Amino acid sequence: MKKLIFGLIVLAMVLSMTVVGFAADKPKIGVLIYKYDDTYISTVRNAIDKYGADVLDITMQDGKGDQATQNDQVDVFLAKGVDALVVNMVDAAAAQGVVDKAKDADIPVVFFNREPAADVLKSYEKAVFIGTNAADAGIMQGELIAKIWGDGSVYDLNKDGVIQYLMFQGEPDNPEAIARTEYSVSKAKELGLDMELANEIIVCNWDTACAQSSMEALINKGANVELVIANNDGMAEGVINALVADGNNTGEEDAQVIPVVGVDATDAAIELITKGKMAATVKQDGDAMGKAIVDIVLNVATGKAPLDGTEYEFDDSGVAVRIPYAPFDIESVEK
Ligand code: CA
Repeated sequence: MKKLIFGLIVLAMVLSMTVVGFAADKPKIGVLIYKYDDTYISTVRNAIDKYGADVLDITMQDGKGDQATQNDQVDVFLAKGVDALVVNMVDAAAAQGVVDKAKDADIPVVFFNREPAADVLKSYEKAVFIGTNAADAGIMQGELIAKIWGDGSVYDLNKDGVIQYLMFQGEPDNPEAIARTEYSVSKAKELGLDMELANEIIVCNWDTACAQSSMEALINKGANVELVIANNDGMAEGVINALVADGNNTGEEDAQVIPVVGVDATDAAIELITKGKMAATVKQDGDAMGKAIVDIVLNVATGKAPLDGTEYEFDDSGVAVRIPYAPFDIESVEK
C-alpha cells in the first residue's frame, strides 16, 4: 500500500512537472487590439482566449483607438521577445511600420480585421492577414433588404414605390465601411428596388451614441425615412434607440416599423431582432475569426507554414484568409 501511494506521488510529481514544462514552452504571443471598446472585436478577443489558452502564452494590449499607442505596444512586445504578433491595426494605413519592425526582429505577424494593403503584406514573407470579404457583408445586406421590403406594402410609407433610406457609415476611409455602403445599395438596386438616399451619408465611425444623436436630429427635422442601413450593429442600435424613443420599432404589434439592417450579429443586435425592433444583420463570425487566429499564429510562432494542418485557404492574394459572413434575421433566431 505504501509503495502504491509513493508510486502515485511520484507519478503526480512527474505529471505536474510535465504540465509546468509544457506551459513554459507555449509560444509567447503579443496580441494588439485596436480598441477593447468594440463589440465585435470583444467576441474575437474572447475566442482567442478560449481557443488559445491551452496552447499559447497570450498577452493582449488595448490600442485605445490610437496608432501611436499601438506602435509603442509593438515595440514593447518585440523587446520582450514574443514569438509572434497578432495585430488588429488602429489605422490599417500604418501597417507598413508594424511590418518593418516585425521584419527587423524576424518575428511573424498575423494581422486581422483591419486590412493592410496587399503590397504591405507581401513586403514580409512572415506577414499574413485574416479578414472577411468586405463586399460580402454589403451584398448580403442588399439581399436582406430585398427580402424585408418585399412588395413595399408595409414599409413604403409615402407609397411612391421608392425606398427613402439612410446610410450610417463607419470611418469614411475604412475599406470595409466603403464596401458595405456601396454593395448594400448596389445589390438592392440589382434586385429591382428603387433606392433614394434620404439624407447625405452619415459618418459615425461605428459609434452607437453618434448614430443615436444623428437619428434623433433627423427625426426632429421630420425627415421621411423608410429604411436604415448601418455599416455595423453598434450604429444600428443607436438608430433603433432613437426610433423607439419616437414610438417606432417598439416591438409592439401595432407599432410602425422602420426596418434597420446592420452588420456583425452582436448579442445586442440579436436581442433587438428577437424583440422585433431590428430587421436583420449580417453575421461576422467572431468566434470563427478567433479560432483561425489561434490556429494560424500557433503555426507561424512554431516555424510552420501559416495554414499547415488547417482547413483554411489563402484567397487570390496568397497572403489573406477570408472568414465567411452569413445573413441573420428573425428566421435565424427561430432556427
Ligand atoms: Ca417611399
